[in-house]
Amino acid sequence: MNKCIFCSIIKKEINASIVYENSKVLAFNDISPISPKHIIIIPKIHIKSTNEIDQENCHVISEIFEIIPTIAKKNGFYNNGYRIVNNCGNDGGQTVEHLHFHLLGGRSFKWPPG
Ligand code: AMP
Ligand code: ZN
Repeated sequence: MNKCIFCSIIKKEINASIVYENSKVLAFNDISPISPKHIIIIPKIHIKSTNEIDQENCHVISEIFEIIPTIAKKNGFYNNGYRIVNNCGNDGGQTVEHLHFHLLGGRSFKWPPG
C-alpha cells in the first residue's frame, strides 16, 4: 500500500486538527475547507473507497454515522442542518484513497449541487 495520508493522521505521524476521536473513528478539520465548518470523518481501519465496503467492514459506516449528531452539536450546526458527502473514485472526485465522509456545516447548500 502506498503511504496513506489519513492513516498517517490516525497514527499521529501527521498533525491534524482533531475534533472527535474514539477507538473506531477519527474526525478532523479539512485542511482546505469549502464551508465555515468542514470536517472529515474516517474509519480507523484503511478502506480505500466506498467500492471496498463489504459485509465484513460495513460496521464502520454505522460507527461513523452514529457520531455525526454529536459532532454537529459540538460544532454548532446541529439545528441548522448540514451536508454529508462521500466522493468515490475518479468521477466522484476522490483525491484521498481512504474512505471518508465530508461533514459540511455553517452555510446553506444548493440542491442539486452545481
Ligand atoms: P476527497 O476529494 O473526497 O478525496 O477529499 C479529500 C479531502 O481531504 C479534501 O477536502 C482535502 O482538503 C482533505 N485533506 C487532504 N489532506 C488533508 C490533511 N492533511 N488534513 C486535513 N484534510 C486533508
Ligand atoms: Zn488509510
